[in-house]
Amino acid sequence: MKKAYLGIDIGSISTKGVVIDENNNIIASSYLYTEANPIKATKKVVKELKQQLDLDKYKVVGVGTTGSARKLIGTILGANTIKNEITAHAIGAMSIHPDVKTIFEIGGQDSKIIIINNGIVTDYAMNTLCAAGTGSFLSSQAKRLGIPIEEFGNIALSSNNPTKIAARCTVFAESDLVHKSQIGHKKEDIIAGLCYAIVNNYLNNVGKGKKIKPPIVFQGGVSKNIGVVKAFEKVTGHKIYVDDNSHLTGALGVAILSKAEDEIDFSFDIEDIIYETKGIECKGCSNNCEIIEVIKDKKIIDSWGNRCPKGELIHK
Ligand code: SF4
Repeated sequence: MKKAYLGIDIGSISTKGVVIDENNNIIASSYLYTEANPIKATKKVVKELKQQLDLDKYKVVGVGTTGSARKLIGTILGANTIKNEITAHAIGAMSIHPDVKTIFEIGGQDSKIIIINNGIVTDYAMNTLCAAGTGSFLSSQAKRLGIPIEEFGNIALSSNNPTKIAARCTVFAESDLVHKSQIGHKKEDIIAGLCYAIVNNYLNNVGKGKKIKPPIVFQGGVSKNIGVVKAFEKVTGHKIYVDDNSHLTGALGVAILSKAEDEIDFSFDIEDIIYETKGIECKGCSNNCEIIEVIKDKKIIDSWGNRCPKGELIHK
C-alpha cells in the first residue's frame, strides 16, 4: 500500500480538501461551499475524496486541518495536525514555488499577506474587518451588475478605461459604484474598476507597510479572477503567479504538514458519525468568552474559545 495524506481547509465560505501522495502530488481534490455547516461540508468533501481515490492502492496515514473551523473538524476527523491558515498557505505555496517571497491570499471572507524570506515566514497580516477586499464583495457586486462571477474577469480585461472606484470600505465602494453606473460609465469599465478597487484596498489595508518582493504568488478563490490578477500586475509592476490549484493551497499545505507527525489510521467512514456542537458563554469575567464544545455520545470530547484556564475548568 502507498501512503497518502488528507488536508482539509474549512473556511466560512468554502471547504476544500485534497489527498496527496508521498511526493506531494494531489491525487484527489474537492471544493464545496460550507453553507454555514462545516461538519456537513466536511462529510461531503471526504465522501468525494474517497470516491476519487483508489483505496486498494492508497492508505491515508495523515490528516491535517486548517481554516476557521480547523479545531472542530480536526477533532472530528482525529487529525494528527491542526494548523493556522498562515502556516498552511505558506507551506502549500512553497511546495509549488520554493522561491516565493510574497503570498497574496484573497478568500471569500478574509484576506492575508504572507512575507517569506529564505523559506521562513517573517511577516504576515490578516484582514477580517473590511469586506471591500474580499471575494464575497466581488460576488455581491457582480450580482448587482447582473454578471455571472465566472465572466467577471474576462469582461474586466475588455476595458480600456477602468472606472476609478473609491475603495476605502464596502459602503464607500458600493455607493461609488452605484453613482458611477448612474452617470453612464460602461459596464466593463466599472467591472475593471472594481478589480482595481479590490487590489488597492488589499494593498492599502492588508499589505500596508509590508515589503512586497517578487516572486509573488496569488492564492484563494479570487485568484481565479483574471481581472484581479492583471490589476495586481499593473499596480505592483510584477508578474503574479497563480497555480491551477491556487484555491486548494491551504489544504495542500496542511496535508504536507501532516506527513511530519505520527501516522494515524484514517478511515473515510465518517458519514454516520454524529457530533453535536454547543456554544456557551463563560461568565467568569467581563471577557464573556464564547466557548465551543464538541459533544459525542453525550460526552464533551473537546472545547475551546476560553482565553484563560478558568473557562476550561467550567467544562471539566
Ligand atoms: S474563559 Fe477566562 S477570560 Fe474568558 S470569560 Fe471565562 S474567566 Fe474570563
